[in-house]
Amino acid sequence: MRYRTLPLFLLISLTLSAQNPNLPRVIILGTGGTIAGSGTSSSRAGYTAGKIPVEDLIGGIPAIKEYASVSGEQISSVGSQDMTIAIWQKLDKRINEIIASKEADGIVITHGTDTQEETAFFLNLTVRSSEIPVVLTGSMRPATAISADGPKNLFDAILVAADPKSRGRGVLALFDENILDGRDMIKVNTTKVGAFAALNTGPVGQVYDAKVVYYLHNDRSDLRTPFDLSKVTTMPRVEIVYLYADSPADVIDFWIGKKVDGLVLAGVGNGNMNAATMEAVKRAVAAGIKVVRSTRIPAGRVVLEDEVDDKALGTIASDDHNPQKARILLMLGLTQTKDTAKLQEYFLTY
Ligand code: ASP
Repeated sequence: MRYRTLPLFLLISLTLSAQNPNLPRVIILGTGGTIAGSGTSSSRAGYTAGKIPVEDLIGGIPAIKEYASVSGEQISSVGSQDMTIAIWQKLDKRINEIIASKEADGIVITHGTDTQEETAFFLNLTVRSSEIPVVLTGSMRPATAISADGPKNLFDAILVAADPKSRGRGVLALFDENILDGRDMIKVNTTKVGAFAALNTGPVGQVYDAKVVYYLHNDRSDLRTPFDLSKVTTMPRVEIVYLYADSPADVIDFWIGKKVDGLVLAGVGNGNMNAATMEAVKRAVAAGIKVVRSTRIPAGRVVLEDEVDDKALGTIASDDHNPQKARILLMLGLTQTKDTAKLQEYFLTY
């Protein structure tokens, strides 16, 4: 851009904001996703995820210069269907570095929506402090689409990350003007822009007209956990088994044969299972595999010792964690202990 061609008032305000030491510093960590997606035409939803670099995403919201001093780093360039534990570890390492060195006042992660709830929960359990807010965001429409939602989501997410009111709340996410808690957020729509919700609790706050407002504090989100990834080299293997009417048990025997460390049941109702599954779960527990009862139902919770006798079966109840979040907590829990009672305590605490 040639500054000479800019109106004087704009030049002055750009220069002032760039030099204003009072503006909060926000680092954007790009991972890919639709927010960085590029399509072939504005009227088509199809696109390639993760193509646009983070600097260009920032360039798309010039007005942010009035609110924050923003810089970007690329961590990965993947659609979040290709998110991996290795990328989570890289993100976690960089975030903990930024926190330790106080390089920024807030961090935003741009991320695909498909597995965003998993990354949010993983980081909520592993980031060592929430004094520097960490906020995930993404978009449902690629940058090339009519009414792309990415620029507004990114703008609002930066405001949330820069706002001191966001401290001490754990990892957050910003979508469609809602501030969601990273522990509770889930994707609830496959294509619409309002794709995220926290069905048991609701959003903790809102952003509107560049103002961040909070209504709720989630007491389960900003807790010091024992999960320190700097000491972990290989993550325990935990898999998910989906249950339905007349579902067969042989998939559980398959995982027993693979010697996995843990299994999460996407059970029916209150973490329930049919008789054949129950017998297979007994075989898994006898083989030393930790089994968590979660549910395929998107709201409510799985209650310990309710319809299923967890003590007799040797199972762990997931509380309100859906199967994909329960998998993360069991993986991290298993980095600390193999004691079923202790693992159950994690599920009732975090
Ligand atoms: N498949 C994309 C992803 O998760 C969808 C999106 O970002 O909305 O990266």
